[in-house]
Amino acid sequence: MKSLLFFSHNQKKIAEVKQIFNNSFLKINSLKELKKIKEPKENGKTFAENAKIKSLFGFKIFNIPCFADDSGICVNALRNKPGIYSKRFLRSFKTKNEAFKYIISATIKKNDNRAFFNTTICMSLNINQHIFFVGKISGTISDKPKGSNGFGYDPIFIPSGFSKTFAEMSNQKKNLLSHRMIAIKKMESFLIN
Ligand code: IMP
Repeated sequence: MKSLLFFSHNQKKIAEVKQIFNNSFLKINSLKELKKIKEPKENGKTFAENAKIKSLFGFKIFNIPCFADDSGICVNALRNKPGIYSKRFLRSFKTKNEAFKYIISATIKKNDNRAFFNTTICMSLNINQHIFFVGKISGTISDKPKGSNGFGYDPIFIPSGFSKTFAEMSNQKKNLLSHRMIAIKKMESFLIN
């Protein structure tokens, strides 16, 4: 297998994933190059279930090996929420900054700013053949949103060992560290072996 479809409607995610695969033996196709299709309902109860809903949906439509990720941020002070509800959580506020304020004030109230990002990839090679890869990165929630790169919660997440948020880092730098990169590298070495 030399090419894989990455099933995602998030253009920033597609750009990140394509960059990670820049020098890979694998060619990544995305929905950008293929016809416009609807998104499936992500009604799973875990990252893995949601990732499989998306990769299987893509596989069934295009009948080619397909992978999808489901990712989110888990905040200690919110008992690991929003987690799989990260997209809906952001959308439940009028603005992103209001959501960030809510998270930051919870970390101050609980005196605990620890958080982590999780990515679970599902690769569907066939209708009954699904393989999962997980990537996690721990860090802290910043005291205010900083930076304008990336997407989602990047402005408030500082990976452990660094002083900048993901949104203050270049895409290349984020891609050297991120939860998504960790999961993708696992998938890549699985395919090489
Ligand atoms: P999904 O995997 O596309 O369902 O992503 C869920 C939500 O998690 C996204 O809409 C973002 O808000 C957030 N998210 C996922 N990955 C990242 C990331 O790498 N940085 C920041 N936010 C992310």
